[in-house]
Amino acid sequence: MELSPEFNSPYIPVQKIEDPLLEDLGTSLSILRTDLIHPVVSGNKWFKLKYNLIKAHEQGKRSLLSFGGPWSNHLHALAEAGRLFNFKTIGLVRGELATPLNSCLDDARKAGMLLEGISRSIYREKDNPDYLRSLQQRFPDAYLIPEGGANREGVQGCAELNLYFDENQFDLVCMACGTGTMLTGLATTSAIPLLGFQILKGDNYLNRRISNNLQKFGLSSHCEWSINDTFHFGGYAKTTEELIAFISRFERVNKIPLEPVYSGKMLYGLYELTKKRDFFPQNSRIMIIHGGGLQGKRGFL
Ligand SMILES: *Cc1c(COP(=O)(O)O)cnc(C)c1O
Repeated sequence: MELSPEFNSPYIPVQKIEDPLLEDLGTSLSILRTDLIHPVVSGNKWFKLKYNLIKAHEQGKRSLLSFGGPWSNHLHALAEAGRLFNFKTIGLVRGELATPLNSCLDDARKAGMLLEGISRSIYREKDNPDYLRSLQQRFPDAYLIPEGGANREGVQGCAELNLYFDENQFDLVCMACGTGTMLTGLATTSAIPLLGFQILKGDNYLNRRISNNLQKFGLSSHCEWSINDTFHFGGYAKTTEELIAFISRFERVNKIPLEPVYSGKMLYGLYELTKKRDFFPQNSRIMIIHGGGLQGKRGFL
C-alpha cells in the first residue's frame, strides 16, 4: 500500500509555549502538534493506524473492524482513514447506539462506517480470543484492530513519533496515556526520558500494562520512562470546574486547542509539577506530544 507523503511522514509543527504563568519557573515547554496532521485522521490515532492499514492491505483484507466508546477518537479516525484509503469500516460501539447519533458517531457513519452497538457485557469480551474468532467468522473479510489501536502495529507507528523533533534539544518527553500504546512505542526509540500522565483511575495499571506490552511484543525500552497517576480527575472523561477553567485559559493564552479527556489533564498536571519548581531539574526542556482527539470535545459542550 502506497501512503502519500502527507500520511507516510506528515509535517508536524513544533510550537513553543510562551505562557506568562510559567515565566521564571525554570522549564521551557514545546509541543508537537499532531492535532494538525489532518482535520480528522489526526493525533496519535493516525500513528496507531498507519501500520495496521498497511498490514490489512498486505493480508488482502478489505475491511477494518474495531471497538470504541460512543466518543471514541479511535473509531472516528478509523472511519475517515477507511474512507481515504478504500477500506470498509465496522465500528462496534460500547452500549446502545443513541438516536440521533452523537456528532462523533454521526461523522463515522457519514464516512461509511457500519456501526453496531454492543452491550457492555459483550464489550468486555473485546480482547477474548473466542469472541474475536466469532467476529472473524461473521466478518471474514475484516482485519481486526483492538480498542484504541493498542496492538503491535499501533506501537510500531508510535515508535516513529520521535522523528518529528530533535531529541538533542530536549530533556524529557511528556504525553497523556490511556492504553499506554503511544508511550510503549516511544520507549523503544526515544533517546530521552518519557513521562506519561495517566488519565484513567487505577493503581499502577499503566506501569504494568506498558511492561507487559514490551514483553508481549518482544521489545525493550531504550530510555527511562515513568507514569504520573495523580491527575486523572476522578477517572476517564471525568472533569472538574478547575480543569475546564485551566483549559479555557490555556487555549486563550497559548492559542492551542486542548480537550478535557487527555491533553487538558496532561497539561494541568505538567503545570502543577512545574510550579513545584524542584520537580524537574532547572532549565528542563520539555517536549509535549499533543495527542489530537479534538473532535471528542464536542461531547462536553
Ligand atoms: C488515544 C489518545 C491518547 C492516549 O494514547 P494511548 O496510546 O492509548 O496511551 C492521548 N491523547 C489523545 C488525544 C488520544 O486520543
